[in-house]
Amino acid sequence: MVKVGIPRALLYYQYYPMWKTFFEELGAEVVVSPTTTQATLSAGLSRVVADTCLPVKVFCGHVLALVDKCDYIFVPALRSVKSRIYNCSKFLGLPDMTRAVIPECPPILDIDIDINKGKRRLYQEIYRLGRHLSRSPLKVRKAALAAWQAHLEYKELMVNESLTPPQAIARISGAEIPSHNPSQPAIALIGHPYLLYDELINHRLIYRLEQAGYRVLTPEMLTAEQTETAINRLTGQPYWTYEEEVVGSGGHYLESGVEGAIGVIAFGCGPDSLMMDMVQRQAIKLKTTPFMSLTLEEHTGEAGVVTRLEAFLDMIQRRKRREAELCV
Ligand code: SF4
Repeated sequence: MVKVGIPRALLYYQYYPMWKTFFEELGAEVVVSPTTTQATLSAGLSRVVADTCLPVKVFCGHVLALVDKCDYIFVPALRSVKSRIYNCSKFLGLPDMTRAVIPECPPILDIDIDINKGKRRLYQEIYRLGRHLSRSPLKVRKAALAAWQAHLEYKELMVNESLTPPQAIARISGAEIPSHNPSQPAIALIGHPYLLYDELINHRLIYRLEQAGYRVLTPEMLTAEQTETAINRLTGQPYWTYEEEVVGSGGHYLESGVEGAIGVIAFGCGPDSLMMDMVQRQAIKLKTTPFMSLTLEEHTGEAGVVTRLEAFLDMIQRRKRREAELCV
């Protein structure tokens, strides 16, 4: 059976069930790289220039982890998935960059998605991708429809049951996920999935918040309507795809009654530095929700993250005590 490798990085968290369904429907076996380790990161760092953002370095490490384990590696180039809203440039050239920096990589299965070029072009691209595994356009079409359905169900699961992408993927694979206690105080995490759910690069942020007694809310738990409303309020017509994850979720959670919000960004990320700044300004303007911004890079130490997190949670507790005293 043909093996298709999928790196557990970048867009994996948003689209894995869709990609897996597509390739499996076409008779392939899907192999995912293991969770990020220090070795994965070091391998990625050795292949790209220092200025590259951390998530792309991690991505290269995951591709290297798959080199001997599959016949193909799937590396899509997602330019735009919504009309006149574009992805960061790193995603556009991802297949070419991967070929250039990892020459020993197995053949790359790529697809160029730009919704602005029309449906016909989109179908041609899907067929071009599927053709590597099946010559039957009907079979490719059926696989694409099944994949789209899997994607819709995945998104619905995260919204309806307040699950993070790793939890939803585990649930789809049949694992038991403990249910949330809605009365628990909540902290919102704002940022891209490849920063929020990679436990090596964020030093187990979600786990630490849960251990401190908080329920963690993330962008994927919001409906498109909720994020769009917040974006329209804060910036108007969006230009970047990832405004939903940063401006949309940040704008929404700052007014949702959470105990605090943490914005997570990658050092050197141009789009994020602009977008998170808007969220921070909104937090300062509203004065209702404590906000902390956390910048991650390969040199970010665990102790630094823990210290900042503890100070932030202490501040939230002090604030709550003060409010309680004022109410007496
Ligand atoms: S949005 Fe920022 S962090 Fe994400 S890939 Fe682009 S530059 Fe890197």
